[in-house]
Amino acid sequence: MANKQAEQYIKEFMDNIIAKNPNEKEFHQAVYEVVESLAPYIVENSALMKMKVLERIAEPERVIMFRVPWVDDKGEIQINKGYRVQMNSAIGPYKGGLRFHSSVNLSILKFLAFEQVFKNSLTTLPMGGGKGGSDFNPKGKSDNEVMRFCQSFMTEFQRHIGQDTDVPAGDIGVGGREIGFMYGQYKRLRNEFTGTLTGKGLGWGGSPLRPEATGYGTCYFAQEMLATKGDSFAGKVVTISGSGNVAQYATEKATQLGAKVVTLSDSAGYIYDPDGIDADKLAYVFELKNVLRGRIKEYADRYPNAKYFPGERPWDVKCDIALPCATQNELNEEEAKTLVANGCICVAEGANMPSTPEAIAVFQNAKILYAPGKASNAGGVATSGLEMTQNSIRLSWTPDEVDAKLNSIMKDIHAACIKYGTEADGYVNYVKGANIAGFLKVANAMLAQGCV
Ligand code: NDP
Repeated sequence: MANKQAEQYIKEFMDNIIAKNPNEKEFHQAVYEVVESLAPYIVENSALMKMKVLERIAEPERVIMFRVPWVDDKGEIQINKGYRVQMNSAIGPYKGGLRFHSSVNLSILKFLAFEQVFKNSLTTLPMGGGKGGSDFNPKGKSDNEVMRFCQSFMTEFQRHIGQDTDVPAGDIGVGGREIGFMYGQYKRLRNEFTGTLTGKGLGWGGSPLRPEATGYGTCYFAQEMLATKGDSFAGKVVTISGSGNVAQYATEKATQLGAKVVTLSDSAGYIYDPDGIDADKLAYVFELKNVLRGRIKEYADRYPNAKYFPGERPWDVKCDIALPCATQNELNEEEAKTLVANGCICVAEGANMPSTPEAIAVFQNAKILYAPGKASNAGGVATSGLEMTQNSIRLSWTPDEVDAKLNSIMKDIHAACIKYGTEADGYVNYVKGANIAGFLKVANAMLAQGCV
């Protein structure tokens, strides 16, 4: 009976979401994953049903869209779209990254903002959920062009954010350089030095370990998962996708924990290094990607034992642990089957929603360890939360202090997943665990705050 009711609830919920948000397939996908986990719980709780809590969570509190005009190096006017989805502020100011990528649209930002609500709640810190960005593509742009774009973006955006209102951070295409340009313009327009953006530089309000946090946190979470099987990273072969911020620091931490990372990628292809990407090679990747802003294929030019596979993704490389750290829907059903057939025992997502629903089903049916990004990559936003705290108390913690707090938050998130996600046969469904644990805190706050 309860099952039938839950199925009916899911159907009506999704029909409504699709009718109200047509053509937003990434948003539908993210909502479906959550509703599927929560429906059995919600239909048994009349207050949640009556107060339409999940229905309200799935409708952004506010969506801001604006024009971002700027002048390129040739003197030509360029026009991009700017967005901020302020999804939910029940437990704290909106918090979530800005993405600059040509693929950015409302569907992608709504999926990211929706996920962020649950992720931020899981961190145990007081942060609501939001996400924003632009269809601006920083690739191939000069530093001056990026600066002019960031200044124009912030000229409008500054009216919608603030340390107690909405605190953006980085995401794809937004790293230290972009946060610097945006923070400079914010400060100039508002005449105040506050913690309104996170991911700031160390000398001007940033937190130690914020750049490392998402990648490190993903490995700390995977470490907890492996420990449930009495296992660890030591001696394991790890495949990683992406070569940006999250991938770089996931590589660093996995290597420090005794594993051998053999792949990195970008949107054009992947490299396979059978000898492993050790600390020296990783230092080259940092230089290549963050300073020279080059492509991952150049890695194979420099290290002859490595091979570059254009147009391909790294999931057919045999591994024990896979850490997808690039983008959404980058690991499909076939690739998931290959990973399982090759003996992969653990998949922890550094990216947001990198595995398709079909891929997740493959992992769960095979009963391998699988963690969704909203749990395993929450270390980034958690450390942003720690940056906000340091800004508020006007003190800085040491890298060791922040690392210890990050590690402890990841352990707590893992424990919450175990608490709410352990099934009758003992298998831990981390998707269910993360969704229920993340939902409860937000739902209770919304119930207390009435129909707003
Ligand atoms: P970066 O911009 O630093 O790096 C992104 C990487 O992903 C690049 O290697 C990029 O390659 C690759 N990539 C981007 N789009 C695609 C695509 N369509 N197909 C294949 N590869 C692609 O971003 P981050 O490392 O910060 O973010 C990576 C993921 O982690 C995202 O899903 C993000 O939402 C998530 N995340 C990030 C957090 C953070 O703190 N930065 C926090 C939590 C999650 P290319 O250069 O070719 O585009």
